[in-house]
Amino acid sequence: MAIQVLDEATIGKIAAGEVIERPASVVKELVENALDASARSIVVEIAAGGRECIRVRDDGLGISAADLPLAIERHATSKLRRFEDLASLRTFGFRGEALASIAAVSDLEIISRPPDAVHGVRLRSVFGRRTALEPVAAAPGTVVTVRDLFANVPARRSFLRQESTETAYIQRVVGACALAHPEVRFELVVDGRTVLATDGSGSLENVLVGVFGAEAAAQMVPIQPTDDLGDQARPLRLEVHGCVGLPTLTRSNRLGMLFFVNRRWIESRPLGVAVEQAYHTLIMVGRYPVAVIHLELPPGSVDVNVHPTKREVRFSDERAVFNAVQAAVRRTLAQHVPAQSVPSVS
Ligand code: ADP
Ligand code: MG
Repeated sequence: MAIQVLDEATIGKIAAGEVIERPASVVKELVENALDASARSIVVEIAAGGRECIRVRDDGLGISAADLPLAIERHATSKLRRFEDLASLRTFGFRGEALASIAAVSDLEIISRPPDAVHGVRLRSVFGRRTALEPVAAAPGTVVTVRDLFANVPARRSFLRQESTETAYIQRVVGACALAHPEVRFELVVDGRTVLATDGSGSLENVLVGVFGAEAAAQMVPIQPTDDLGDQARPLRLEVHGCVGLPTLTRSNRLGMLFFVNRRWIESRPLGVAVEQAYHTLIMVGRYPVAVIHLELPPGSVDVNVHPTKREVRFSDERAVFNAVQAAVRRTLAQHVPAQSVPSVS
């Protein structure tokens, strides 16, 4: 067959598949955009597991009328100018790909108003085709509404799980963002019902109750800081903080373990193993702990540009990170459960 360059719509759909796997990926990208825009309040509303509708409303910096059409262009970003800037980047976004990808596979509407603008602007793009760009009355901030996700990619749509499963993924994403940002108010509304709410006061306790529920939050204890324990000089500048559930608090799956690197939520099987091993003999086989683990380390010793969704990161010293997490969890458990039941170093 002759070689041909793909048309833009096809390129868009293929690229979208890399970033947008399921409704929860849309939620994650939109919430991270809101955080990048310095929002203090973020409200996520979903209908039918996110298939029918996902709406994220923020009170952040907004997008100017001139920039709004650019926001859904591929590789258009306000956050990165040169590749060299990557190492010092403080924002979640930098590829300028998320909104373009979402636009390619949904009926998308963005209404945005920077606080100093006298009115907002509304943009609508229906499966990759822009259909509206017009002034509207709007509160300062941005509201992004995504409807009929993947309706033009039947293979992807049929691959989605049942509504309750997609909702659980979304809840985990919003929970993770709330845990990483106690100073931002979060609310998740599922089919008209608020299922998660934090007050943005900066209190971690408030976030734990909002995300895990009062009963679970009461069984979680803060990780003992290393500094308080007079550890000898560590070669890697690495801080572990957060909180872990007592062995009485368990789950039937690993979804209760959340990891953050410099406030960025990551997925890491090795770190999951590190935590599970720390609970070894304390928790029944087939049950999993609840843990919120924050790692702070120099940006230079972690590579976030490994995977398009940025969910997996690479550490310059994997072993040191694994050990530090495991030691921190063990140390914390040792303070709260009878000494003889905490396993020693494996
Ligand atoms: P990236 O986040 O990688 O820059 P996106 O496609 O997610 O790429 O967003 C493109 C641009 O649109 C961002 O760089 C930002 O300037 C703007 N933008 C997107 N969402 C928001 C928002 N909620 N508030 C303000 N600006 C936004
Ligand atoms: Mg983004």
